[in-house]
Amino acid sequence: MRGMAGFRRFVYNFGLEMLKASWSFEGIKASDSVRLNEIKKVFTNHVMTLPEYAWTRNYSSTIYQSAFQDLGEAIARWRQGLAEFPVLAAKKSCDKFTVYKASAVYPKKGEPALPFTNRVVIEPGRKINLPGVGEVRSKEKVDFYYSSQTFTVTRTADKWFVSSNIDAERVPTIFHKVEKVGIDLGVKTFATFSDSSTISAPDSLKKAKTKLSKEQWRNRNKEFGNKILGVRASKNAKKFFNSIARKHAHIANIRRDFLQKITTEISKKYYKIRVEDLNVSGMVANHKLAEAVSSLGLYEFRRMLDYKQSHYGTKLEVVDRWYPSSKTCSLCGHVQDMKLSDRVFNCGACNFSCDRDLNAAINLEKADNHLAKTKQKKSIKKSKKKAG
Ligand SMILES: [Zn+2]
Repeated sequence: MRGMAGFRRFVYNFGLEMLKASWSFEGIKASDSVRLNEIKKVFTNHVMTLPEYAWTRNYSSTIYQSAFQDLGEAIARWRQGLAEFPVLAAKKSCDKFTVYKASAVYPKKGEPALPFTNRVVIEPGRKINLPGVGEVRSKEKVDFYYSSQTFTVTRTADKWFVSSNIDAERVPTIFHKVEKVGIDLGVKTFATFSDSSTISAPDSLKKAKTKLSKEQWRNRNKEFGNKILGVRASKNAKKFFNSIARKHAHIANIRRDFLQKITTEISKKYYKIRVEDLNVSGMVANHKLAEAVSSLGLYEFRRMLDYKQSHYGTKLEVVDRWYPSSKTCSLCGHVQDMKLSDRVFNCGACNFSCDRDLNAAINLEKADNHLAKTKQKKSIKKSKKKAG
């Protein structure tokens, strides 16, 4: 599979370099997709026939077809201003490839394609027959029959993952138990709800992080070779860096699992979900806080709540970042200064006393007139673009 990923990388980079080179010839006037199609022809009819590239013929042709497709999509996203210009795929970060089942029976002219001739049927169990790869055994069990055409294989640390699109029925409409909730996100307690429930980050996350930093500290002088001095990485260094990569992946998995579970739970229980706008510039100024925010996955939390809206029929509302949710009394509305270290809100006007995070969460729930208008702005921009 490393070889297949290498083949995909080779094709992707070849296509990208050739496309860039083609732009330097002023005489050629053609769209990106036409250029890429021509480049693909060069690859198939010329490069693959050369003896030094004979190895490319050992792999499934669907790998390079999808590599060109990926490249075309990356270029299109860049043209639309949705992404940066694509970079060359690197061995370090880009072990992935896509295979698909090409239609075995081609329909006659004017006749519709026969169903299922271009789909792989996966049976319950651990075995998956990947087109162009062969049968692989997965660690995780699949509990049902399904069919799919395209499979993407990726590597993280020393584990390989396969993903595929399947058709499924929509989740039936859910009736939410609670109409409205405000959620205050924090470093100490991950989430505090306006109904005074709380969620903390799992202990396993903290443990895994401690393990990682201990190992990093013990090996703080280890170097992965030195390119300038021509020193190769030692076996022990390789072992160490592999184990670090595994630990990073482990932490990311715990975090993703935690976030997926709580965002699903929240989306099932509450209808209107109010969170504060994460003040990026303010948090970056405070390094420790910025690190905590990114390592906890607060952005990821919001992103998941956002895309789960359509699954669970929820309404995610973002409260304006200037709204002083932690400085306002949730009982009388009095606004007073609060230090970051103050854990309890003691109102100077009405003597109301409340946990800092809970007070903020209640304020977020009540903040009807302070909802951020980011979505509206975006739609205005879009309509302007269309008009222009
Ligand atoms: Zn008060």
